[in-house]
Amino acid sequence: MTDSVHVFIYLTGPGWYILKEHGFLEKHCRHQFPVRSQLGCSHAALLTALTGKTPDEHGHFSSYYFQDKVTLRETVRRLYRKLLGEKSGYFGTYSIPMRNLKYFISSGHPYVHDLSPGCFAPLTSIIDMVQEKNLAHSIVGAQTGSPVQALKNVRNQLQDRSLNFAFIEINEMDELLHSTPHDFYKIDKKLRNYEHHIEKIISVGREVSSDFNLTVFSGHGMTFAPQRINIRKKIEALGMNYGLDYHAVYDPTMAFFWFKSKFARSIILDRLQELRHCKILSENEKKEYGIDFPDRRYGETMVLVEPGFQICPNDVLSCLPAGMHGYAPDHPDSLGACLSTRPIYPGPTQVKDFFNIMTNFVSGCKQG
Ligand SMILES: [Zn+2]
Repeated sequence: MTDSVHVFIYLTGPGWYILKEHGFLEKHCRHQFPVRSQLGCSHAALLTALTGKTPDEHGHFSSYYFQDKVTLRETVRRLYRKLLGEKSGYFGTYSIPMRNLKYFISSGHPYVHDLSPGCFAPLTSIIDMVQEKNLAHSIVGAQTGSPVQALKNVRNQLQDRSLNFAFIEINEMDELLHSTPHDFYKIDKKLRNYEHHIEKIISVGREVSSDFNLTVFSGHGMTFAPQRINIRKKIEALGMNYGLDYHAVYDPTMAFFWFKSKFARSIILDRLQELRHCKILSENEKKEYGIDFPDRRYGETMVLVEPGFQICPNDVLSCLPAGMHGYAPDHPDSLGACLSTRPIYPGPTQVKDFFNIMTNFVSGCKQG
């Protein structure tokens, strides 16, 4: 076994300012970087970290993508699953809205949390690279069980000298921060608990390896979002026919539109341009954010609301939480983070760079 060991912990929910406010791991992880978050859902950011690809390359972005010409059989299958009450996503309240059954596919892919080799094929992820190098590893997705148990397992593997690479995804703080984004006590309690177990990992890691390092990644932050904006009502007031003139999907922070005619496009775009507290993303912004899908499966027109607002009603959540993410990636509350026990050059500036940090470590390890 090579002597080099690197443990990576990926947090979903607490971004740069929350981690700084609570002094998370400040004694051990002195090399700290705010990073621009990846616009899109949490899965989009996680996949970008694992593959180094943007959503328009790996395909995961928001709640639904468009697929015209769905067969009757497929529509009936979706209706059946909906009637059965199949749910996923935030707080288990997420399902395909009836009006979209014919046109859209829910993109809540369950394999996102599988994290096994080949799970993102044809893309190559860090998981494939670790496997190929035959490194002693522990790769644990958020759905696997208790995050604290996963951290304890890492410590035990270090003690047994049977670990070179670990990636532990922890997403339980995401729900806490959605519900109570300003509850300092609850947030602090959770972070101190993680910190306690991570400090033990660092202590054991340094005993068993002369080249031990640990890095914490955060894919995005959380924004207090008490304001509501009803985009759907404003569009429906135009008198256009949903399905005949246009299609639309409303996420909590973004709205997506597809047009069936130039006339419908012109009327709807004029209305969207007048709306306060939201903006239509330009083609340059789509490129910059890595969401320039050539097939427009996530919308010909994308509207992003200002931080602090949530689209209500939307097609994802029946009950809006106090905190939300998915706003402009450079907004302070959106920022993710990288905290490391070792210097990183060049320092990461965006979620995509997490992949390079992990790749650099794996590339430098001897074949196991
Ligand atoms: Zn979330």
